[in-house]
Amino acid sequence: MSRPARALVDAGALRHNLEQARRRAPRARVMAVVKADAYGHGLVWTARILDRAVDAFGVSSMEEGLQLRAAGIAQPICLLEGFFSADELPLLAQHRLEPAIHHESQLKTLAQAAPALKLTVWLKIDTGMHRLGFAPAAVPDVLQQLRTSPAVANVRCMSHFARADVASNPETKSQIDIFLSQIQELGLESSLANSAGILAWPQSHLDWVRPGIMLYGASPLAGQTAAQLNLKPVMTLETALIAVHARRKGDAIGYGGDWRCPQDMPLGVAAIGYGDGYPRHAAPGTPVLVNGQRVPIVGRVSMDMITLDLRAQPKAGVGDPVVLWGLGLPIEEVARSAGTISYELLCHVTGRIPRVVIDNNSQDLQD
Ligand SMILES: *Cc1c(COP(=O)(O)O)cnc(C)c1O
Repeated sequence: MSRPARALVDAGALRHNLEQARRRAPRARVMAVVKADAYGHGLVWTARILDRAVDAFGVSSMEEGLQLRAAGIAQPICLLEGFFSADELPLLAQHRLEPAIHHESQLKTLAQAAPALKLTVWLKIDTGMHRLGFAPAAVPDVLQQLRTSPAVANVRCMSHFARADVASNPETKSQIDIFLSQIQELGLESSLANSAGILAWPQSHLDWVRPGIMLYGASPLAGQTAAQLNLKPVMTLETALIAVHARRKGDAIGYGGDWRCPQDMPLGVAAIGYGDGYPRHAAPGTPVLVNGQRVPIVGRVSMDMITLDLRAQPKAGVGDPVVLWGLGLPIEEVARSAGTISYELLCHVTGRIPRVVIDNNSQDLQD
């Protein structure tokens, strides 16, 4: 028997969520964002499930792009942070990786590059997030440099939202207006919408949409649950009870001993902790499911274990299933209770958690 902690990842849910993105943005092509190991779900199997059903992939680095190519993924791959040094350029050309161009330093590198690399690049415009990208006023000049660079064959435009998760935010409206006024003049293929843009800002759909979090079945919108958006959780993080104890009133539980039993009560120990990516800051009271029913965490999260108040589950025993998030327990709720966001929880699931792919259509997974 191995340790029971594992992440079930549901290929059917992933396909379903992609379908929702397509339905919301029917005229746009889809760049599936699979950076950070597909938000912790496992880069290669995720890309294999989505391959051919999407029009491109988005990643953060050449290394992630090369992993996809090594796995046989043939679709275009965009490097959302661009390239970092000149020595990457030949590999980008060889593997058809499409860098975002967001900074003067990259223009210099391109100008000095070997000719005839025939790169497709994504010119990143800063429409108000003020993280990456060229100011709108600089765009005509940058575009001119790209068009005259022998390394570049094809230019597209992109920008990124800062606050699209908040419905009817005026800054988002302003970002859309700035981007639209830019691209109307340029006549280039363009992309603005992340998941929140796809779901809440139809004017932002344009030629390409870039869904990330919604593909994994978590809600990108403040105040709307994944279920309300018809998204299904792809990852269910689960483990089992490995000990059950009858504790006495006043017993101090776990590191620091700051949580004490208010009465004689059963406590369970589940094999999952911050060493697996379960958040150490999950507050006492954060829900988990034991045998499908909610019980609260008590005491501090350890590296390998958590302790659970089993008063609502007095018959629970060793080996009983424990779900930390996923089916039956929305990850947003756990994130809120731990002072973070679902994105971070998903990305933080560590390498010692096996990802177990559930696929009823499993011929996709061979090879
Ligand atoms: C991560 C990322 C996305 C996807 O964002 P979600 O909120 O997960 O949909 C889209 N575009 C860029 C540039 C990104 O960095």
